[in-house]
Amino acid sequence: MKKTHIPGLPHLQFRNIFCIGRNYVEHAHELNNKVPGQPLVFLKPTSSIIFDGDEIHIPKASNNVHHEVELTVAIGKAGKNILKDNALDYVDGYGIGIDVTARDIQQQAKENGHPWSVAKGFDTFAPLSSFVSSDKIANPQDLDLRLTVNDEVRQSDNTKLMIFPVAELIHYLSTIFTLQPGDMIMTGTPKGVSPIHKEDNIKASLNNGLATLSVTVS
Ligand code: ZN
Repeated sequence: MKKTHIPGLPHLQFRNIFCIGRNYVEHAHELNNKVPGQPLVFLKPTSSIIFDGDEIHIPKASNNVHHEVELTVAIGKAGKNILKDNALDYVDGYGIGIDVTARDIQQQAKENGHPWSVAKGFDTFAPLSSFVSSDKIANPQDLDLRLTVNDEVRQSDNTKLMIFPVAELIHYLSTIFTLQPGDMIMTGTPKGVSPIHKEDNIKASLNNGLATLSVTVS
C-alpha cells in the first residue's frame, strides 16, 4: 500500500520536506563545519519517506551512510511571512525522523560546491515516526531526542540546544516558501552521527517514547 499521509495526522497529506543543516553547534563542529548565521535549508524528496517497521536501503553508490535523528515538525495550515511570535500556531504535530545521509556523496558535493539532493534523497532516506498532536507538546524546545543502533546509544540530546528554534525556522522558511498543510520540517541533528550497516536495527525516540521509530537496514 502506498502511504500518502503523515502518520498520526491522517488529515495531512505530506508535501514538501524542508530540512535544516547545522542547527546544533556540536554537530556542526563534529563535521568540521562553521555554525551558520542563518538557517541552512535543503529539501528531501517525498519519495524518500518510509515509516515505522520499514527498511532503510543502503544504495550501491555509497559506502558511508549516516543516521541523523531530528525533531520533525508537521505544518497544519498555510502561511507566508509568519511571525515568530505565532509561528507555533501553524504546527499540527511533532514526530521523530531520521535524515539518512550518504556522507561520502555529501562530502564530495560540499567540496565541489554541488547541491546535496543526491546525498540526502535516495529512496528510504527519510524514516518518520507517527506524529503527536501539537496540543500535547507545550514547548518544542525541551524535547529529548535519542537514537540507538543495535541498542547502543549513538545520539542523545535535547532540542533546547538548537541554534534556530522551531518558531524561528517557521518564520524564516515562510519568508521564502509559502508553507502548506502537510509540509514537514526536519529541524537538524545533534551530535553523534555515525555510519549504519546492513542488518543494523535503528530505534529513534522523542522524549522517552512520546513518539518512536524502529527501522532496520538492508
Ligand atoms: Zn539532517
